[in-house]
Amino acid sequence: MPTAPTKAAGLADGSSSATPWPRRSEHPDPARRMTFYLGIPPSAMPRVDVPTCVSVSALLRCGDRLPRAKAPYLLDSGAYTMLRDHGGWTMFVEEYAATVYRLIDGLGHPPTAVAIPDWMCEPWIIHGGLHRGHHYVGTDLDVPIHQALTTGAYVHLNNEHTGVPWMPILQGHRLHDYLDHIHQYARAGVDLTRAPLVGLGSVCARQGTAEIAAIVAAVRAAGIDRLHGFGVKTTGLHLYGPHLRSVDSYAWSKGARLRLPDCTHPGPCNNCIRYALAWREHVLDALRHPHQTSLPLDFRNPTNPNVADTKHTTDTPRDRKA
Ligand SMILES: [Zn+2]
Repeated sequence: MPTAPTKAAGLADGSSSATPWPRRSEHPDPARRMTFYLGIPPSAMPRVDVPTCVSVSALLRCGDRLPRAKAPYLLDSGAYTMLRDHGGWTMFVEEYAATVYRLIDGLGHPPTAVAIPDWMCEPWIIHGGLHRGHHYVGTDLDVPIHQALTTGAYVHLNNEHTGVPWMPILQGHRLHDYLDHIHQYARAGVDLTRAPLVGLGSVCARQGTAEIAAIVAAVRAAGIDRLHGFGVKTTGLHLYGPHLRSVDSYAWSKGARLRLPDCTHPGPCNNCIRYALAWREHVLDALRHPHQTSLPLDFRNPTNPNVADTKHTTDTPRDRKA
């Protein structure tokens, strides 16, 4: 039986302590040189005292009973599920903006960044079909059109709704795609080197690969060094984590196969905030000790094909696809 921490760090009742934030690029602790946004269900937002990530689509299901956010948070668009299930966005960009305004009002304080309604470029998103047990409708478009739609959404939102911290997102499949997209933003009058945060899209499923590390290096070489990694796991953190400004991850939900000793809920901890917070500390430890191999909990990599998926029903930010 794996050992477990005696308390869950980061709960807002002050009963425990978590690795503090905000980040500082020169901080002696490597885990504090980036901001880690912990993916959580909206219902946990009033209780969690560390930076969090929630998706617009999950918040929409709260209806008029939006939670109050305790900590800084990042709004993910839920684009992956949207494109997977519908083969395109079912709301116009203006509707998305109106939705975000309403959510921010209900959550109580503004987010640090809001993902635009972007268009991922994985082949299964574009062409559709079965991928890792999920059916994808397919957009039947191509990478340049996905990029143009993404750029157009950002330009519109940034010009028309200046009070929201919209995060532009780079999309592509191969390295040259990402560089092309930087130029496309520039032609639209957007200097990404000046953006507070730039999302790096379509990398979640390949994040343990040298190709993604090369993409991160090339984008940084183009002068874009405030990058946000969507759905990054420990494999990605080891490869290029120090080169990112921030990351988010919901991978704990799929990785939780056990129940922490002190938990009283039935079943495994795949919907358990105590587990999520313990997992956050584990991920941050990976930044401190990049060659650590022994894991204190059941924090197995959910991308491991030898590990069966644990079904969970909470709509999650982007690493739900891994
Ligand atoms: Zn639990």
